[in-house]
Amino acid sequence: MINDLIKQIGYRFLFKNVLKEYGMTLGYVFHTEEIFDKSVFESLMHFCQEYRKLTNARPICALMTPLNPRVREGMRIHNVSMDEFAGRVQLLAEHASIGYHGHFWFHSDEFKNGTAEIRCTNFLRSAVEAQVGEEVQWFKSMNIRHNNVYAPGWWLMNAELLAILRCNGFDVDFSFSKSLWFYNAYSHALMKRHYIRAGEPFVLKTRRGDVTCIQNFIGCHGTAFPQDFDRNLSSLLDPDYREIIGVVNAHDTDLIGQGFLDNTLNCLRYLQERYNAAIVGYDELVAQARMRTAKILPSA
Ligand SMILES: [Zn+2]
Repeated sequence: MINDLIKQIGYRFLFKNVLKEYGMTLGYVFHTEEIFDKSVFESLMHFCQEYRKLTNARPICALMTPLNPRVREGMRIHNVSMDEFAGRVQLLAEHASIGYHGHFWFHSDEFKNGTAEIRCTNFLRSAVEAQVGEEVQWFKSMNIRHNNVYAPGWWLMNAELLAILRCNGFDVDFSFSKSLWFYNAYSHALMKRHYIRAGEPFVLKTRRGDVTCIQNFIGCHGTAFPQDFDRNLSSLLDPDYREIIGVVNAHDTDLIGQGFLDNTLNCLRYLQERYNAAIVGYDELVAQARMRTAKILPSA
């Protein structure tokens, strides 16, 4: 409460129009992890529909598939069959662009054990390769387009994973960020080495082909203060790079939080009205990023 009061007073004087010198093109990515839970699924459907009404664009739902052990366990608890899960994704695809979101494990039956999750420090190519291959096959067999888009686990990004993803058709990535909360050692070092500025799209060459990288900025604020967005985004920006393009993110489970939907839509409306931000769908986002990309870089 005190925090809110301080913000209310502070924002009258601070961060006012702080983004007005920037042209903003934004997309929205949901890490879609728990639609086996009916209330999460229904909230996400509702959000996507309201988002479309406001922006005329679809959000991106980067999906953990039912082959992911964590999702499978959720389906078991919520008594959701494979067919029912696929049906939910198909419904979601009417209002959102579907993508792929990965969490990887050494052994599928050990997923509850924190140390069994694959990270950069314990990366095992064969296990990741096998899981990505199976999950991509699921998309195909269900006739669900993943649009060749991958959104992270930003704690797990390296040249090996990029190559595995590219080999499986994923040529658009949202894993890179200038935000302290959304980068790992690999992505941070790569962006620093090549002077990538916030909102600057770039291409990474892997041994399997090129990947267009569109940065993830920050979470889109579900707080009552849209100015939180100004404060957090402006801290990442470079005054020498003013036509920024990127995505904001949330988890599907965030939608259960009180006020999240209204506050998020309010924040997007504020960005449109105050800064004339272009909130665009996946196709437009990728087309714009590819048009603006000047840097083609090695991924390793
Ligand atoms: Zn996740």
